[in-house]
Amino acid sequence: MRLRLRDAACAVWMVCGLVAAAPMCGQAVEHAPALPRPDDRYKADVLLMVAHPDDDTGVLNYITRASLDEGKRVAVIFTTRGNSGGNAIGMEQGKAMSDEREMEARRSLALSGITNVWFLHGTDTATQDVLHSLETLGHGEALEETVRLIRLTRPEVVLTWMPGYVVGENHGDHQASGVVATEAFDLAGDPTKFAEQMDAPRRYFDINNYGEGLHPWQPKKLYYVSDASHQAFLEHHGPKYLASDVSRTKGVPYATLNKAAWDQYATQTDPELDYYVHMPDYLILAKSYVRSTTEADVWDGITPGPIAYRSAPGYQPPTRSGVSLELGGPWAFYREFQEAHGVLSVLRFVAPQAALSSYRDLWVPLLLHNDTDEARDLTLQATLPDGWTPAAKDTVYHVEAHATYPAQMFLKAPAEKASDKDAPPQRLRWSIAGAGGSSGEVTLAVTLEYNGVPQ
Ligand SMILES: [Zn+2]
Repeated sequence: MRLRLRDAACAVWMVCGLVAAAPMCGQAVEHAPALPRPDDRYKADVLLMVAHPDDDTGVLNYITRASLDEGKRVAVIFTTRGNSGGNAIGMEQGKAMSDEREMEARRSLALSGITNVWFLHGTDTATQDVLHSLETLGHGEALEETVRLIRLTRPEVVLTWMPGYVVGENHGDHQASGVVATEAFDLAGDPTKFAEQMDAPRRYFDINNYGEGLHPWQPKKLYYVSDASHQAFLEHHGPKYLASDVSRTKGVPYATLNKAAWDQYATQTDPELDYYVHMPDYLILAKSYVRSTTEADVWDGITPGPIAYRSAPGYQPPTRSGVSLELGGPWAFYREFQEAHGVLSVLRFVAPQAALSSYRDLWVPLLLHNDTDEARDLTLQATLPDGWTPAAKDTVYHVEAHATYPAQMFLKAPAEKASDKDAPPQRLRWSIAGAGGSSGEVTLAVTLEYNGVPQ
């Protein structure tokens, strides 16, 4: 029989003739049951967070390689079930199509050996405005669930859509999934955030428990991918994975595997499928808490085991003075969001840009700031390329002291400028002037293309 610790102590006391001084002798000793370890069936090496069932095809070269050829465990979160996309093969729409698209995603990912797949409750929202998509997603609930899933899956790497405004599909739901994934990356290791997820259940072997029993988890790297239509500008900000590379386990190019994965998404078949099947995956390294270089493989520098929590810089109020002008809406949000989460310097290469909405319309929100102690009349001046309407004219805005006027511009591109993806972007400029104040200027590079999602 194994000698228990306390029994051994008693034996020592007795040998020393100090029995009377050993008060614990003879008491029964019970060992606490071994604590169950975190459920290894859900451990992920790479956690991909995207918006729609089929968004995973935007990074298939990498996740198929990681899963099939490198033995990495890949898990996926979709923020929506794709209820408002088109249906290329049938009449089913809305919730009925959601049911189809969820199954399409599960079947497609299973071809790459990926079976840990979760769907959040966002509504598929066809807009390029991230703030609109965050509203329809249910930002708070999605963030809570994403933090929970990071703590459950304990990924080394989080991979998601870039939270930024680009020329291209630029889907607001894509951007929103990148916003939530970035927030969750920064929160999951903080035990004060959603603390109820980590409370130890009181009787974990019983039913009706309180306490979810998770632990904080800090992922090591954060990567972005983009739905920009001009992908080349994304190169050299992270590793690139090619569709022409040959899968070690399957013996065929990843493009062949991509086609098979795409075929599962029958409702979403795209006329340009061949182009997408052969596209490279440009990953953007947003954050790394291990020693690694920008363009190195995703796995560079990663070793098993937890790392300490790393806090994001957090929001800092702007230090403005006088009067100033800046792009508003999603552009203003991203400036502050990216700075607060420590990815602004990485994403500086994404200069302010836009493409046209339907009927060649362009929406441009502008913020006129007056940070002086007096109300000011600020004159907004536009410099537009030939043919844009309404024609540029000076407009005066009355802005109270320490206030901001959100001006909304709606402009039309000249009709003779047909949608041309290859034409150089047009540069639209605005500036302000106010009595006694400084002036500010913003420039927006506008590409004359339209990709189907309203701006
Ligand atoms: Zn999508």
